[in-house]
Amino acid sequence: LTDSPFSDFLGFELLLDEEDRELLSRVRAFTTREIEPIINDYWTRAEFPHQLVEGLAELGIAGLAYDGPGCPNRGALVDGMVAMELGRIDPSIATFMGVHGGLAMGSINLCGSDEQRERWLPAMARMELIGAFGLTEPDVGSAISAGLATSARRDGDDWILNGEKKWIGNAAFADLVVIWARDEADGQVKGFVVEKDTNGMTFDKQEDKIALRVVQNAEIHLHDVRVPEANRLQKAESFRSTADVLRVTRMGVAWQAAGCARGAFEHALRYTKAREQFGRPIASFQLVQDLLVKMLGNVTASTAMNVRASQLQDAGLLRDEHASLCKVHATVRMREAVGWAREVLGGNGILLEHHVGRFVADAEAIYSYEGTREINTLIVGRAITGESAFV
Ligand code: FAD
Repeated sequence: LTDSPFSDFLGFELLLDEEDRELLSRVRAFTTREIEPIINDYWTRAEFPHQLVEGLAELGIAGLAYDGPGCPNRGALVDGMVAMELGRIDPSIATFMGVHGGLAMGSINLCGSDEQRERWLPAMARMELIGAFGLTEPDVGSAISAGLATSARRDGDDWILNGEKKWIGNAAFADLVVIWARDEADGQVKGFVVEKDTNGMTFDKQEDKIALRVVQNAEIHLHDVRVPEANRLQKAESFRSTADVLRVTRMGVAWQAAGCARGAFEHALRYTKAREQFGRPIASFQLVQDLLVKMLGNVTASTAMNVRASQLQDAGLLRDEHASLCKVHATVRMREAVGWAREVLGGNGILLEHHVGRFVADAEAIYSYEGTREINTLIVGRAITGESAFV
């Protein structure tokens, strides 16, 4: 079933049907053959390997869980396992796909009219159009639901957008960006599909990141950007709609985090079998085995939680607090696991050539995006106590 039997310890992949398992092994072959050998070089240069897009498109994994026109509609479980598989080899490519196939396609799938879904989703599923998702702003991240300041003003058949966005993945080369802005008339947050080269929308690539360096994040400047009403997502009436998109994509991040931990664990396991000290493989030392087993425990526990939550998603029962707990758990356990992986590599753990160093750095970004640990914790806390800690 799997070429890494020790890390799919409880055989979760057996839950997939044959067609989905076949897809997962095609993804595994592609990531191992095409991504792993080149990714450290792109990470060092902070560049995106655009030549991979064609191969990723051929895999047919963009918007894998979505049911919109042209979308694969294969369900949340295999979608999650594919996100884990990408994260296992490279968290940046997993993030690129999460932004395009998760956040951008998800916004259109969930909040677009039938006509809008027809207009954009098939080409996005084929990856002929690449999407981005513009929610966060320079002055407001966690408090975005109340503090979102980008404005939208109706002007005849158009809308005029003004404001600033920060951290927007894929933005610099995306064909379309979903911009979330507050309607000046009713104060509600609405979504707008802003196409590349629209007058008044400019970008500044964010330089000098120490994590997810392959992901091209940008600040977006919106200055009197005119967008037709036809590009306003017709079913996005308030921030509740944005939160509905994020509930699903947060599960994707929980899966990526499990993948990041799993990739680091597998590198560590291989290394400890090959590296000898005191005349024996370091894998034979009790203290090293302790760390390896704890890593495997973290990966397995996160995967188990994610599997169940994705099954709930497929059954239409996933709640905000489910996704938030999975995201908190998987990212905290990932951060521990990548640290232990680095530890068992000794000094080599900080060299990019052994890959684990990249996972350690990338884990820091995954830990904080799509809701920090604190914010996702407070979402769960609100659900179980009935008391909101948000002001
Ligand atoms: P802040 O909100 O300033 O938080 C700082 C600290 O304060 C955190 O520890 C936080 O948990 C804590 N804090 C805040 N409020 C509370 C509270 N009430 N109680 C306790 N603690 C609190 N956004 C997009 O829209 N699109 C993207 O494509 C995108 N991609 C990203 C990619 C990367 C690599 C990164 C790093 C971020 C990305 N983001 C994106 C933004 C991301 O979602 C935000 O960084 C995240 O929501 C946190 O916001 P912030 O960074 O402004 O932190």
